[in-house]
Amino acid sequence: MIGFAFFTKKRQLSKTTLLGLFLLVAALVIVTVYFSVSYSAHTRLQESAKNYLTRLTSSLDAALARHSYLPILLAQEPFIQDFLQKKPEAISTEQLNLYLERINQIAGTLDIYLMLPNGDTIAASNWSKEQSFIGRNFAFRPYFQKAIQGELGRYYAVGTTSNERGYYFSYLINAQDQPALGVITVKVNIAEIESFWKSQRIDFLVTDSEGIVFLASQDSWLFKTIKPLTELRRQAIREVKRYLDYPLEPLADFQWPPYLEADQPIWLQGKHYLLAERSMEEAGWEVYVLLDWQEVTRPAAVAMILATILCLLTSLLLLLLWKNQAQRRRYKQAVLEALESKVEERTRELRLAQEELVQAAKMAALGQLSAAINHELNNPLGAIRAYADNASQFLERGHPELVKANLQEISGLTERMATITRQLKIFSRKSSGCISDCRLQVALDSAFLIVRPKLSQTTVSLHHHYDTHLQWVRADLVWLEQILVNLLSNAIDAAAEQAKGQVWLSTERVGNKVRIQVRDNGPGIQAQNMPHLFEPFFTTKALGKGLGLGLSISYRLAKDMQGELSAENAPEAGAIFSLLLPLAETSMETEDD
Ligand code: ADP
Repeated sequence: MIGFAFFTKKRQLSKTTLLGLFLLVAALVIVTVYFSVSYSAHTRLQESAKNYLTRLTSSLDAALARHSYLPILLAQEPFIQDFLQKKPEAISTEQLNLYLERINQIAGTLDIYLMLPNGDTIAASNWSKEQSFIGRNFAFRPYFQKAIQGELGRYYAVGTTSNERGYYFSYLINAQDQPALGVITVKVNIAEIESFWKSQRIDFLVTDSEGIVFLASQDSWLFKTIKPLTELRRQAIREVKRYLDYPLEPLADFQWPPYLEADQPIWLQGKHYLLAERSMEEAGWEVYVLLDWQEVTRPAAVAMILATILCLLTSLLLLLLWKNQAQRRRYKQAVLEALESKVEERTRELRLAQEELVQAAKMAALGQLSAAINHELNNPLGAIRAYADNASQFLERGHPELVKANLQEISGLTERMATITRQLKIFSRKSSGCISDCRLQVALDSAFLIVRPKLSQTTVSLHHHYDTHLQWVRADLVWLEQILVNLLSNAIDAAAEQAKGQVWLSTERVGNKVRIQVRDNGPGIQAQNMPHLFEPFFTTKALGKGLGLGLSISYRLAKDMQGELSAENAPEAGAIFSLLLPLAETSMETEDD
């Protein structure tokens, strides 16, 4: 029971361990799948963001580079220089305006205009338009200030007159060894690039170095800041009218990730974006490409869901397998239990049948012995009658001493008869097999007493040779007596056929067993009978003489006492029956000592 409880506990323990292990492996698989898919999706998205960024910055660069030379070229134009040096015979203002208008058309720029060194515009390509620059002063513009210092002025701004976003290139015009004559400015349209990229359906931002958005895929992002801007800077920008009167507020619902290096997404107006950034140093711009972060999370989530389903299916399969196995185990157990109980029932029935058979065999043996027993009892009875008759005559004749002697004889004879009947009573009692330490000598003596009447009717002589050290055996005393009576009775029957019949009964120790041997000098056992000797109802004796149960019962009883019964023919002649029985532990100790 304890062993079984331990086994069950062990099995339960291993089941829990297995479940824990499985959950751990499943969790590992799901986490690994999630991270590896999200890593590769992230890498892919980064790659495509980089590509977009390269294309966007290249197209911006190209748009600017295309026109950066134009003011330098125009500044060299003698036509313009002559005009500025007030050589009216050379060219009129109208002619210059038309000239600039034509160049503007050919170059595909927004505007081209000419300013005096004080910033006043004196000629412009848009001379004919309502919002013409002519007469306006742009001295406040940084590009003008740069150009007047002799450098190429580059500037991005929203046109104060046109309200259009543009990039300005300006250059100083001066004749050799003379003070500045003027500044020529070319305004380039970059909104075209914006509308092209808008059609590409990707989100992007282009900011100036202060973080103010001036190109974007969404109109609502324009002229918003993505970096903190101090009030002082805001004021300074307002002064140069770069972004006119736009309030330059922070971009709404925008958040940088806490650690940019960790490739975390940014948050912008309800969505996460992967952000790729590149600087355009010449223009002083920052270009950002924003790709939907769901391109990373969606495949990772799908892969994780698939991995979870796979793990669930596997666990379901394992559970079904385990349940099936448990069911089979239970079924096997039930079958085994049913079988065991059936075997137990059959064994009980067999034991009962065997007990009945043993008893029957005993009664049969008694029946066979009854003639001899009758003789054994009738003899003393006759003697008793004779002694009693004599005693009454001696009493009449007045010989009381002889009467006493006869009565003593009678008493002795009754004692002998009582011994025989007592023994028969003991022999006929039923036993259901109570194996204990028994005195071997008691069994030998009892058996001898039972067969003695039979022996006395023959000329067979019984010899015995006992190992007197052997005192205790493990046996059922009644069963052992019965085996000995059977063996001795058979031996007497066999030896009686000889003129000088002999039976030998001996005991000896063999290891931790005792061997009891019954040998006779009868005809021995015929070879063809040898295999059937211990079969029930095998007999070679005449009808009424034998039932053929003695040896088969004895064989069974010996087995039940953990012993063995065997038969062989003696080399000289006759049969030898050997009964091996375990020695009692007490006897073994005595022997060993
Ligand atoms: P039964 O004595 O009623 O025949 P047993 O089972 O005791 O039944 O014996 C079975 C048979 O074994 C006997 O009929 C006999 O042929 C043979 N047998 C038993 N003991 C001896 C013996 N000592 N010598 C020769 N044959 C024997």
